[in-house]
Amino acid sequence: MEKSYDILIVGGGIIGSSLAMALAERGQKEIGVVDVDLSGRWSSSERNAGGVRALWEQPVNINLSSLSISFFEKIATQVGFQQKGYLWLYGEAGSETIDKRITGLKKDGCEIARLSPLEIERRFPFLDRLDGITGGTFSPHDGLINPNLLKNYYRDQAFTEVDWIDRTLVEEVIVEGESVKKIRLRELPAEKDIEPFLKEGMLPTGGTVCEIEVRTLVNATGAWAPALAKLYGQDLPTIPVRRQVSVMHCQEVDLAHYGMIVDTSGLYFHHEAGNILAGYSIPLEPAGVRFDDKGSDFFLQEIWPRLSARSSQFERLKRVGGWSGLYAISPDKSAIIGRVEGFANLFEAHSFSGRGIMQSYAAGQALAELIQNGKYQTIDLSALSGIRFKDGRWVQEGLHL
Ligand SMILES: Cc1cc2nc3c(=O)[nH]c(=O)nc-3n(C[C@H](O)[C@H](O)[C@H](O)COP(=O)(O)OP(=O)(O)OC[C@H]3O[C@@H](n4cnc5c(N)ncnc54)[C@H](O)[C@@H]3O)c2cc1C
Repeated sequence: MEKSYDILIVGGGIIGSSLAMALAERGQKEIGVVDVDLSGRWSSSERNAGGVRALWEQPVNINLSSLSISFFEKIATQVGFQQKGYLWLYGEAGSETIDKRITGLKKDGCEIARLSPLEIERRFPFLDRLDGITGGTFSPHDGLINPNLLKNYYRDQAFTEVDWIDRTLVEEVIVEGESVKKIRLRELPAEKDIEPFLKEGMLPTGGTVCEIEVRTLVNATGAWAPALAKLYGQDLPTIPVRRQVSVMHCQEVDLAHYGMIVDTSGLYFHHEAGNILAGYSIPLEPAGVRFDDKGSDFFLQEIWPRLSARSSQFERLKRVGGWSGLYAISPDKSAIIGRVEGFANLFEAHSFSGRGIMQSYAAGQALAELIQNGKYQTIDLSALSGIRFKDGRWVQEGLHL
């Protein structure tokens, strides 16, 4: 706690961990990662669906995912990366949209095929209720990953070069002119203090407090990024929004050979350790840090009707679990990455909504380049700078779930 850091990353989720690895790989010294709970119990990196796809509308999102996928392919067995593809179903209004998306993806070098309803039936025989389906796309290099293995992979690569500061929160950011000079950290007195801080922003009383000098600070606090940004006087347009998933057992269908399936209703589902994991984003879900999980009600009202509308074999499902986690959503549904406007040594990488896992590798590499060299080299992410919301240069992502 007496140390100073060249680069201090706040938030040790998938993004903070990837950035730490990228910096360490580039020979960076004096890196710290501080997190109120490095085990990540409430973090989005712990509570997601593990989907990986290059299937996006915005070129920058396609590129972020594609570059990450190329890396995941190299370490596939270590991080449980399975390229079993994404099937995306389309309804009545879909034909033109499919063409546009296929063209966009092919332009960026990604493989994607258009499937007719007959081909869908043949390749996915359990989908026996295709009323209203006009076709679909299948992207074979997309798939599923184990997010915990991936986060630990990043951390392991960076392990010896990084101070991992656990059970500690940032409670003040001390700025002089355009630079962050110091931050005040508070070590939580007890494990029971983690939850009230992350859920309600309640600061614990007691605990060791210290001020640390930092030469560069990075906000990688995911859905908590707006709260940290307030400490340096910024009003972030990002909102935290609850997302829920259900896990079910289905005796009739084994999805082990398939990747992710996305229905016209917005429901997505895939195989998960012998069960089925399904998620659905309730429209108009109110903003806020909420983890209350509606459990059976969510399954009965949102998941089961949509699944059974696609397959007679999903009529008999047994819910065996589920959870809720947070999306950090920016106004255009694309991530915010880059230097924070008005600061020389303050950077940010957050607001990945439903794609932080799949874009984590490329995002970490690119931000490390920007921090160390002052410019992007591998992939240009300047379109994702937070200043775009002031300039009206939104990167509206339409394939957001
Ligand atoms: C239900 C669900 C399904 C999803 N499905 C997918 C998917 O299929 N594919 C995909 O790619 N993405 C998916 N996502 C999104 C993905 O999980 C996130 O984009 C990603 O995990 C964000 O990572 P992060 O590192 O930015 O944030 P987090 O993992 O949330 O990490 C932020 C960290 O910051 C810490 N922190 C916060 N405030 C402070 C503070 N003041 N001081 C110190 N530490 C602090 C927290 O403890 C936390 O560990 C899903 C998310 C949810 C909720």
